[in-house]
Amino acid sequence: MIHAPTIVWFRDDFRLADNPALLEAEKLHKPILCVVILDEAHLPGAAARWWLDRAIRSLDGDLRRMGGSLHVFRGPAGQVLTEIVSHTGADTVVWNRRYDLKGRETDTAIKAGLRAEGIAVHSFPGGLLHEPWRIRTRAGGQYKIFTAFWRGMRETHPTPFPPAPAPEKLAFAPLASPPAGLLPQQGDYGLLPTRPDWTGGLQEMWTPGEGEAHDRFAHFMRDGLDTYATARDFPAENASSRLSPFLRFGHVTAAQIWHGATEKGFPERFLMELAWRDFAWSLLFSAPDMATRNLRPEFDAMPWRDDPAGLARWQQGQTGYPLVDAGMRELWHTGWMHNRVRMVVASFLVKHLLIDWRQGEQWFADTLVDHDPASNPMNWQWNAGTGVDAAPYFRIMNPVLQSRKFDPHGAYIRRWVPELACLSDKAIHTPWETEIPRGYPAPIVDHRLARERALHAWKTMGSGA
Ligand code: FAD
Repeated sequence: MIHAPTIVWFRDDFRLADNPALLEAEKLHKPILCVVILDEAHLPGAAARWWLDRAIRSLDGDLRRMGGSLHVFRGPAGQVLTEIVSHTGADTVVWNRRYDLKGRETDTAIKAGLRAEGIAVHSFPGGLLHEPWRIRTRAGGQYKIFTAFWRGMRETHPTPFPPAPAPEKLAFAPLASPPAGLLPQQGDYGLLPTRPDWTGGLQEMWTPGEGEAHDRFAHFMRDGLDTYATARDFPAENASSRLSPFLRFGHVTAAQIWHGATEKGFPERFLMELAWRDFAWSLLFSAPDMATRNLRPEFDAMPWRDDPAGLARWQQGQTGYPLVDAGMRELWHTGWMHNRVRMVVASFLVKHLLIDWRQGEQWFADTLVDHDPASNPMNWQWNAGTGVDAAPYFRIMNPVLQSRKFDPHGAYIRRWVPELACLSDKAIHTPWETEIPRGYPAPIVDHRLARERALHAWKTMGSGA
């Protein structure tokens, strides 16, 4: 007897293991059709598109080793899915959830449309530790402060579900003739920049995919145990896991990492970082416009400066502040930046240049390979002081002190700002105090004056901040 196939729709979950939608499809004992739909309305920024291209190819390779493949379509998701269903006679569609508002609205509409046609649709938890509506205050509300969220999570949901293994065997449905929107396998998915192709640094740094995610995690479990808690703030050390883009694209799940790290006795500090990600998603779930709206409305009156030239200098790593420039160049080259440096560059844009945090958020959204629709705005609002749990605006990070403290020998700066490599460990943090090497700019703003300007602007907002 020929069974109607089950469609497994992959979105932010490019993996075989701990994939509830795929496991459900396996349990149904019907042939499966694995699909990705490149819907312009849901595509990420430019650097993450590069990752997406590689993620598709990597999962396709993994599925081929099991005798199947990944079918890639382009077009509006609802239309494309309906077309695939009618073309293949599929009677079931499964996916893992996404939690941003646009994604949720699209998925709800698609689910209703397919069900109205008699197609079974099942959705499953995405790659968070817990569903974003799960960890609530005693009164049932949204936590506004991370430490309270963390305590609440530890009390009510101390451990995420244990991760499930990858299916051992899958039966794949053939795709005889191509339905509308199908792209040639292993062809050009239209996700990569062409003129110019600026992805060389990304290619040097990353190998997207599930296998690499687990290799990296195993490596981190081995080498990071003793150093994570003490060295994670030092950008020249390779002390954090660098798993963020792998988590973003679901090559690995937070539950897999949580359980692996717990078994190894990893410090709680690391588990807390994973929980920050969940906290961000719980915030985005209750404030879906977090990337565009100040969570503290008094900041709507903030007199941000319109400064395209300053913004461009910041984007290009040409501010004259070595740690800021090193971070922005690392981002441009690799699509990633160390967390401590992300904080320093964010603070610099919002306070030293007095530029609206949303402009920085957008730049990160386009240039980070790990761009995450919840973590990015939450962290920007944290640094700008506009978030619910945020560093107060009047606490202005001094980029020179941060540089001396977290890159004491200038190793990170030397790596990303080679013009300064010849300076001593002392002079490298303040090149303007000695002789600025050729090709490196003078500071774009004076720290003391910028600080005063920021505090003055903040005071003009009126009370309440
Ligand atoms: P590790 O220290 O090894 O932590 C493990 C995991 O915990 C990370 O991979 C990440 O998934 C999560 N995590 C760690 N710190 C945070 C945090 N502060 N907030 C949320 N999750 C966290 N992270 C993103 O994944 N995507 C973003 O778009 C993003 N934008 C940011 C923007 C700004 C302005 C700042 C200050 C931080 C941002 N972060 C973002 C958080 C953090 O910088 C990265 O998650 C971290 O640098 C990733 O490196 P890692 O994997 O080595 O982290």
